[in-house]
Amino acid sequence: MKINFKELANKYQTPYYVYDFDDITKQYNELKDAFKARKSLISYAVKANSNLSVVQHLAKQGAGADCVSIGEVKRALKVGVPKYKIIFSGVGKTDDEIRQALEFDILMINVESEAELRRVALMAKELNKEARISIRVNPNVDPKTHPYISTGLHENKFGVDLDTAKRMYIFAKKSENLDPVGIHCHIGSQLTELEPIKEAVNIIADLVRNLKSALKIELKFFDVGGGLGIVYDNETLIDTYKYAQTVLDSLFGLDITVVCEPGRFIVGNSGTFVTKVLYEKVNGDKRFVIVDGAMNDLLRPALYDAYHKIEVLDKSDDKSECNVVGPVCESGDFFAKNIELPKTEHNDLISIASAGAYGFTMASNYNTRGKVAEIAVENGQDRLIRKRETFEDLIALEEEYLQ
Ligand SMILES: *Cc1c(COP(=O)(O)O)cnc(C)c1O
Repeated sequence: MKINFKELANKYQTPYYVYDFDDITKQYNELKDAFKARKSLISYAVKANSNLSVVQHLAKQGAGADCVSIGEVKRALKVGVPKYKIIFSGVGKTDDEIRQALEFDILMINVESEAELRRVALMAKELNKEARISIRVNPNVDPKTHPYISTGLHENKFGVDLDTAKRMYIFAKKSENLDPVGIHCHIGSQLTELEPIKEAVNIIADLVRNLKSALKIELKFFDVGGGLGIVYDNETLIDTYKYAQTVLDSLFGLDITVVCEPGRFIVGNSGTFVTKVLYEKVNGDKRFVIVDGAMNDLLRPALYDAYHKIEVLDKSDDKSECNVVGPVCESGDFFAKNIELPKTEHNDLISIASAGAYGFTMASNYNTRGKVAEIAVENGQDRLIRKRETFEDLIALEEEYLQ
């Protein structure tokens, strides 16, 4: 759907994020449909965009939640994601987080080390519970994505190798306080090639069959993680149907529920970051377009050198090369370098596409900049889903300590 950025700018000021909720529904349904041959659960990776209204919207479609902190678990519960659709992952869960997850009785805790497994067993024992767990296996395949978002190689900190996983399943089976129900792998993000996924799921499925035949451990959930890529520039994507088929093909002989944890795929292309031109200037022969949004609002270009498509609204003439930069005092504060943009004037609007995932959730208050407004558009109607932060919001937790 075409969103009227100008109207929204007049109504809510800039910068802002806007999300097309109908597009989010479409992406969710596409993936859910692709897995329809089997029991499946699409657990949305909350870290991609954790706005309560976004998570609530997905909960209404039937999505579960994949969480990487107890805060995310609480967000999911708050907006009505059923506890039996919530997964808690992450390499470094605190005792307190583990305890709370057990008390909330979520679907499973996704364990990422032997030490953590012992900790979960201990917490469960103290609470007199049996913890449903899955183990994150690191299959050591190269996902062929940006090194910062690659997670499936032994050199990455995530998961455990196959032998360790096997030992952990044996430990869990013997423990009165652990119930091994799942297996998990997530090899990276923004994946655009099917082959590494195929390799990974085949390794994991073999382990599942092996656990079943050799150790009589019957897992109920096969969690293939997230990672499906989206179009930022001109990427060729993995076909969703082929992706699902590849996963399902690996599971021959197994009666197991497929779990998938997409984040970016669901919300990435639904979101646009809209910012306003403040000034143009030329340093030497370098042209800069200075906008009111900055790296603290949308970090991906600074962090990953990520590409986002940038357009000046209602202008197309007189293009020349420029850098689009924000007001923050860092040379890393840019949205794009050396791109062709038309000549701009004060108050022209600039749209930065594909900003729905890892956009607002990575925002900070650096330079005492309030976080921007978030807006939803659904059925042609817009509504605010997070207010712009004020100066008072920013100092609220400090003010009382002034002497
Ligand atoms: C980040 C993450 C995801 C989601 O990744 P996307 O690339 O956004 O789909 C899924 N599972 C786990 C464990 C994650 O850490």
